Amino acid sequence: MGSSAGMSALITGANKGIGLEIARQLGQAGLRIIIAARDAERGAKAAQDLEDEGIAARHVHIDLTDPASAKQAAENIRGREGALKILVNNAGIVDPQDGSQEQAELDAVRRIFETNFFGTLAVTQAMLPLLKKASPARIVNLSSGLGSLTFNGDPDWEYAGYKLIGYSASKAAVNMLTVQLAAALKDAGIRVNAADPGFTATDLNGHRGQQTIPQGAAEAVRLALSEDDGETGGFFATDGRVPW
Ligand code: NAP
Repeated sequence: MGSSAGMSALITGANKGIGLEIARQLGQAGLRIIIAARDAERGAKAAQDLEDEGIAARHVHIDLTDPASAKQAAENIRGREGALKILVNNAGIVDPQDGSQEQAELDAVRRIFETNFFGTLAVTQAMLPLLKKASPARIVNLSSGLGSLTFNGDPDWEYAGYKLIGYSASKAAVNMLTVQLAAALKDAGIRVNAADPGFTATDLNGHRGQQTIPQGAAEAVRLALSEDDGETGGFFATDGRVPW
């Protein structure tokens, strides 16, 4: 995205894992980084680590389970930066009480939706006026292959054995948000896509993923920096389109 240098990018859940790496790579591309973290100390440390690497970075408090924190962060960014070029909805959780359709605890499924879907929606709603001010702008939603209805219907899919109804359904809901937002925001110049990072070794999965964190961040970074006439309303992994 040629015109983005010096503009701001907000990445949720950016104090570690894939989010921190997306923040680093967008910072290396010249964007001013706003790390959103639910824990002030972890957010401040991540921003300082990026600053130490020569990246312009600061942090704001956003807890995805607290929509008021997203509104406060938007107010803070409106005052400090005035606009937002890129929003990466990265923060997400799994839950040990999630499981197959027959075994998952309902409260766990609700907890996952509260963060992965409702929280993502709340942050997006809060940031939309700032993104419109920076148009052309980008939203990238971190989804998962587990959120693909097509993959879940294929018994031969590599991850067909992973039955997490809460997590998978929450990411399918994020995919729906992606499609609806993309259609609604096309004329406003905001491109919205979902990224599947692939199975990446992070705290989320006890570091069982096969990919490195930079590999997991790559597709979200590509979409965040895509050209102004690039794709919108799509679901992508590094090896191409992911079926909905
Ligand atoms: P991670 O290392 O566990 O990091 C998750 C981040 O989200 C952390 O910064 C965490 O903050 C934050 N977070 C969790 N709940 C939050 C809340 N309520 N409010 C604000 N921040 C919150 O996970 P990751 O593997 O990097 O995952 C990043 C994204 O990629 C997630 O959306 C995940 O679903 C998706 N994804 C990951 C994989 C994979 O294999 N790793 C595969 C497919 C999709 P704290 O440090 O405070 O907990």
